[in-house]
Amino acid sequence: MSINYGKIHKYNTARGFGFVKRRLGASRQDHIFFHIKKIRQKYAELVHKIESRFSPEINFWYTTESTEKGEQISDVWLQADELPLQAREEVIDYIIKFWLNNVTFALYILEERDRLFLERDPRIQEQKEKEATRKQRREQLEELQRREIQEAFQRVEAKQQQLEAERQAEQQRLEAERQAEQQRLEAERERIRSTLDELISLAQLPNSDKLINKIKFGLSSIPVEVQDRFWYRISSKITYGTSLYEIAPTSIRTSIVHKKFNDVLDCMRKCISLPDFRYFWRPEEFYGYLREEDWKLAQEWLEGQLPLTNERRPFVEAKMLSARAAEKVVFFFFRSLDQWPKDIAIKQLSHNSEDWKSHDLLLKNGYRIDVKNSRTSRNQRNYYVEHCIPRFKYTTERKDVIIAGVLSPYIRLEGFVNPKEIKHYNVGPIIFLGITSRDKITNLQEIFTTDQFRDIEIIKNPDEEFHVVPPWIFDYPKEFYKEQTFYRKWLKNIPFSDYPSWEEFKELGINPLPAIIATGLSIPLAWQNSLLPWQLGFCEKITPSSNRISLPRLYLTILTHFLRMLSSREGNDTYQPLMYALLLYSNPNLIKVPNAHDDKVEQEIERKNNLPLGIVDPLSIIDNLVISLQIVWEHRISNDWDLSQFQVFSFKGLGWLVGSTDKSFQSRKTILAYCGGKDGDVSCGNTPLLIGKHETCVNCGRLICDKCGFCSESCRNNKNDTENEKII
Ligand SMILES: [Zn+2]
Ligand SMILES: [Zn+2]
Repeated sequence: MSINYGKIHKYNTARGFGFVKRRLGASRQDHIFFHIKKIRQKYAELVHKIESRFSPEINFWYTTESTEKGEQISDVWLQADELPLQAREEVIDYIIKFWLNNVTFALYILEERDRLFLERDPRIQEQKEKEATRKQRREQLEELQRREIQEAFQRVEAKQQQLEAERQAEQQRLEAERQAEQQRLEAERERIRSTLDELISLAQLPNSDKLINKIKFGLSSIPVEVQDRFWYRISSKITYGTSLYEIAPTSIRTSIVHKKFNDVLDCMRKCISLPDFRYFWRPEEFYGYLREEDWKLAQEWLEGQLPLTNERRPFVEAKMLSARAAEKVVFFFFRSLDQWPKDIAIKQLSHNSEDWKSHDLLLKNGYRIDVKNSRTSRNQRNYYVEHCIPRFKYTTERKDVIIAGVLSPYIRLEGFVNPKEIKHYNVGPIIFLGITSRDKITNLQEIFTTDQFRDIEIIKNPDEEFHVVPPWIFDYPKEFYKEQTFYRKWLKNIPFSDYPSWEEFKELGINPLPAIIATGLSIPLAWQNSLLPWQLGFCEKITPSSNRISLPRLYLTILTHFLRMLSSREGNDTYQPLMYALLLYSNPNLIKVPNAHDDKVEQEIERKNNLPLGIVDPLSIIDNLVISLQIVWEHRISNDWDLSQFQVFSFKGLGWLVGSTDKSFQSRKTILAYCGGKDGDVSCGNTPLLIGKHETCVNCGRLICDKCGFCSESCRNNKNDTENEKII
């Protein structure tokens, strides 16, 4: 018997059969045929379930039988306990066999698996541990790094915080300091304020030594600027000469002195100040004033000249026009002095008078004036040599004729035709130099000729027709200086006791000496200690005159005084010619040996108001003399000469000074000179040539000009005969 268990797999209701799928064991045929009648015999109610279309799974135990039609179900049982005994044992056998085979095998597999597991797990574990260790280390490292970075951040932050804290602390400290300082300053200001108020009220009280000491002490405790404020506040209350005045600062004292001595100071200033008259004119302006008659007159003079070549004619015509303009300059000058000049020169054109032959102008006081024009050398604005115009009109006796000197710039004929163009030429002004006369010249010669200075020759022979007149011989007429004269008279009446002291003058920065000397007063006794003996000697030499000191007199006084100092054996160790400046100039510091760095323009303006003893000196003749003498003085002794050995001196008008060790002028030497060299009819005029500064010619003993190389006519003629022929 073969019992099995299965479920109905298919069933055909119409035909009443189906198949059962067996569940136990394996067989070739899984689906077993059954006919419903076999089920109906035992389980009729089950048929109905099988036929139902929606019946659930139906299982039952069954046995099969082999028939002609094949294997088919022979019997069925729904419950295992309904099975016959044999079938039941067969099932149990089957189950046991199945369990043994299958379950035992399965157990073995499990065991083996577990063994393998046991074998494998440690490796995995090891792997896992390694992995874990690595991971851990990596994490540790990462953690470490993270911490380090964090720490770095923290450190920076901490540092920043520290700095910030320090900064704040410093700020607080500074602020505290500032406040403390402010409080201190405030307190100090308050102290100064009250000290100042106290001092000001003290200053109002009558002066006493105790009070002055108190003020001095109080002042020493306050800053300089507050001291200034103190003095400023009380300055109007200070009286000259009081104890308070004595301790006042210089600026306060000088202003008090200024106020107190205002009249005398003003008077002294006016004694030597620049007169308010015009004495120079710009050529571009002045030559515009020349009228047709002036041109005609110049033409007339031109015709009077020796026959002229066409080439030379314009040069001579320009010279004549310049001379005519010079006459007009003098005319204007005297008109401004209310001298009502008459133009006599112009009468030459009308031929109805002979007066023009002796003079050019006639003044209302009867003086006749002959104008002498000289032109500057072409290259040097202020240097010139001769004051000599050849004129052929002197016929009458000329004893009383006054010579007026004019210095004109060298202008070509084109300049007279087109005066406006002259401003592009860079030429100096037309200067009225002053007047002189034959009497004055001979008088000067007499005064200054001494045993030592015995050959003084300003003009060779007054009766000759041609005169060479030096520039320093001219002086302005007394009418020009009428204001100075007025104040000098006034100053003479002021007693010295009404003057500030020498120290006060020093503090004021005012040099009182020029006004005193110019006025003809003696130097006050109290001041004499402040001057050197030779300076006092010079003052004595120049003052004893009732008249005003003229430019030529000043010039010759300085020169002769210098020569005396040069040959004097003693007392000249303190002598310096530049120190004449203190006696002559209100600003002596302007007189110095020229220096390339000097600001010439500024100096020029200051110099204009810095008159030697109040004398207008448009050519700076006096300063140039003083400076030249200083140079000679510094070179008075050399290998070749010792000027202190010179016994006698000769002086030729234009500035040619010769000294000699013997009285007969056998061994003579030029000390001071001007260049007499000419290029055609234009003079070189370089001046001064000085011993020690310029070379001395071994042939003629004269000084050699450093501009043109000229020394003397005789040497030049030897050198080059053709040069004289050169015409410009
Ligand atoms: Zn020579
Ligand atoms: Zn020269």
